[in-house]
Amino acid sequence: MPSLQSVISCLSDYDPSALPVEQANRIIAEVIEPVSGIEQVAIREALDRVLAEDVVSPIDVPAHDNSAMDGFAFSSAALQSASGGEVTLRVIGTALAGEAHGLTPATGEAVRIMTGAVMPAGCDTVVPQEFTQRVAEAAGEAAGETVRFAADAVRAGDNRRLRGEDLARGKPALNQGRVLQPADLGLLASLGIAEVRVRRRLRVAFFSTGDELRSIGEPLDAGCVYDSNRYTLHGMLRRLHVELIDMGVVRDDPAALEAALRSACENADAVITSGGVSVGEADYTKQIMAELGDVTFWKIAMRPGRPMAFGRIASNGHQALLFGLPGNPVAVMVTFYHFVRAALHRMMGADIAPPPLMRVRSAQAIRKKPGRTEYQRGILARGADGQWEVRITGQQGSGVLRSMSEANCFIVLAHEQGGVEAGDPVEVMLFEGLL
Ligand code: AMP
Ligand code: MG
Repeated sequence: MPSLQSVISCLSDYDPSALPVEQANRIIAEVIEPVSGIEQVAIREALDRVLAEDVVSPIDVPAHDNSAMDGFAFSSAALQSASGGEVTLRVIGTALAGEAHGLTPATGEAVRIMTGAVMPAGCDTVVPQEFTQRVAEAAGEAAGETVRFAADAVRAGDNRRLRGEDLARGKPALNQGRVLQPADLGLLASLGIAEVRVRRRLRVAFFSTGDELRSIGEPLDAGCVYDSNRYTLHGMLRRLHVELIDMGVVRDDPAALEAALRSACENADAVITSGGVSVGEADYTKQIMAELGDVTFWKIAMRPGRPMAFGRIASNGHQALLFGLPGNPVAVMVTFYHFVRAALHRMMGADIAPPPLMRVRSAQAIRKKPGRTEYQRGILARGADGQWEVRITGQQGSGVLRSMSEANCFIVLAHEQGGVEAGDPVEVMLFEGLL
């Protein structure tokens, strides 16, 4: 793994006291490597897990050309030879799904076919039943029936599913790094695959720091607040399907902090702390973090969430990545979503695209200075004219957790951009799918 120093020394314009969001993310990405360790799990247990290797399809799905409709299978040659715009074919039998029927119609003949049934030899087209008229044959002729339809009701190849069109034998059906979704479980089942190899779950330890913090159940002394970061972090990490090591509140005391960081480091792949990393902070958090490893302290050009510690700590032969998040409850969430989430995905080996940004109208003017990225909390809804528009959720202070609770998106105001007028387009990142 490259050291933080070696990554940082390659940057010409590195300024830890005003680090652009994008640069911080680039440094984090370069330092991180996926954890090793693979488990084999049954496909039901593989939901939300990260595929450790490509799954190559052992079979063609579907295994045969088959019908996409209930109707009549025939050779499209009959469409060209139709007289008076009508095709009339003699029905020689019925093909049901799941049977090897062996029916082979000759010129002028068709097979009644059900959805999913194997296409008869020589047939390439299915005319849906609702476009046809079935005519009983005149008495005296051989028993059976004929079917009649307009030649322009179908084109050659219509309503036929091709062998291997879903998944072709020998081709990768799912790529390593895929975080398995419900459709993927079905897809694996369609290949007859019962178990897959996935990466082991990431272990993440987290704790809150600050002598003003009280845990639920403790009396709230004057000047104290309840530790809410413990619960937002719990929620955010649960959504990433990691193994949690919840260490609660750690006192602002060098021995307690060192013991907590060492224990976290020895038991987890990543350690997340909140509080104590601000400039001029009078506590010991930064000092102990720096003593335990290769850790830098950034002031990120963003709002909320300016101070952040990042690096790698070591204890008794174990290493862990460290994210020292700010203490303010909104700043914790914003830095988690905009730095930690992608970093943990990378550690899990998960190949996940950055969340999409949607461009919508701002319902109001928003003040913003160039030179920092802002993540205002917004409510995206349809305006009176039916178009999507976003407004901010009242007070945007980094301690006002209600702003996150009421919001359904971040309004992402880019580093260089200035203020926004009512009616201007802005970019939003939806919480749905992110949270
Ligand atoms: P800090 O980054 O330590 O200076 O903390 C900034 C602000 O966030 C202070 O007002 C803290 O009281 C508050 N804070 C820090 N940690 C927590 C926490 N775990 N839960 C709620 N508020 C917190
Ligand atoms: Mg503090």
